[in-house]
Amino acid sequence: MLRIGEEEVKAVRRVVNSGMPFRYRGGSECARFEERYGKYLGVKHVVQTSSGTAALTAALMALEIGPGDEVLVPAHTFMASATCVLAVGAIPVIVDIDESIGIDPDAIDDAVGPRTRAVIPCHMWGLACDMRRIMRVARKRKVLVVEDACQAAGGGYEGKMLGTIGDVGAFSFNYYKNMTCGEGGAVVTNRKKLLRRLLCAIDGARFYWTGREKDFRGFLCNTSRPSEFEGAILNVQLTRLPALIRKMRRQKKRILKETAGVVRAAPVNSLDYECGQAVMFQFDTPKRAERFAEQIPATVLSKTGRHVYTEWDPILAHRGAHHPALNPYNLPQNKKCRRRYSRGMCKRSLDILNRTVSIGTSPDHKAKDTTALIRKIKRAAERL
Ligand SMILES: *Cc1c(COP(=O)(O)O)cnc(C)c1O
Repeated sequence: MLRIGEEEVKAVRRVVNSGMPFRYRGGSECARFEERYGKYLGVKHVVQTSSGTAALTAALMALEIGPGDEVLVPAHTFMASATCVLAVGAIPVIVDIDESIGIDPDAIDDAVGPRTRAVIPCHMWGLACDMRRIMRVARKRKVLVVEDACQAAGGGYEGKMLGTIGDVGAFSFNYYKNMTCGEGGAVVTNRKKLLRRLLCAIDGARFYWTGREKDFRGFLCNTSRPSEFEGAILNVQLTRLPALIRKMRRQKKRILKETAGVVRAAPVNSLDYECGQAVMFQFDTPKRAERFAEQIPATVLSKTGRHVYTEWDPILAHRGAHHPALNPYNLPQNKKCRRRYSRGMCKRSLDILNRTVSIGTSPDHKAKDTTALIRKIKRAAERL
């Protein structure tokens, strides 16, 4: 969360006073947010939902991914990027990241097999993946691209907003994200054909509220519809976001510039457009990374628990559903999918994560805070 305050209180009060927190009975906040967020991102369709996990799952449902399919996911992301694949009955295949911390385009190329239907690049920590190369590989190998932009609201890549470059993009607005309504999410696409499937994947009972459509047969899902409260808060958060992002990006640029030659920064894909909320430094050994991190203090990426595949217990143990008969790992259609995992399977990713240290920027930092941080970084580098 970057900021929340009195404006959100006012927005929520407005919804309470209206007596209508349901989006399909005269409420306007969710609809307004979807329209505004679409304009902000430069994308045609936005569907608000109750979480980022629901947004990712809806994306795969809209793309008709299911049993018999494999979906490539990076070794460094929140577990939901992989659990959404199981939620639709398909099998996640875990793929290495490269030094930029995003999924490695060459590793995607190597990992595509006859059953691979999609890849889910994730823009971790607001950094942009190498989308140009990822899209090129994906088009060449005929796999769909679902961008996990859950940590990257407001970020971009070479002038396009993250989440709008692949076939579908997913956002989370939970507490930890740049923009938050407590719990929430959105799924976005430019492909008109997917819109009704996305709406249906988020609310299988939507036809009760907005009417049956002759030319569209819906399917069932677990509803993840947002309330007007979330919509109202997000409308305030969206107004605030661009200035906060600009501030963090400026801080990041300054830190990188003034520490250049002292500490080695991780490769950056799109510095002028990414969120700028984290500065990454890379060391030649895990030991040096640790010693550096202790002094700041900062975070070694391998120590971020749930963001490393080695911590995805239910997936590593093939507990893919609440019931064995629904567990994708038991389905006959998935027999030929690659579903062997081990903690040592992505050694290159673990090595990179062990050697990479993340330092956060903040919209609350003043110039003198950044000056002090830069001094600390230089001092820590001298003591390695
Ligand atoms: C937060 C997050 C999600 C899931 O979002 P929820 O809103 O918590 O369901 C998915 N992927 C990534 C990379 C995330 O950081």
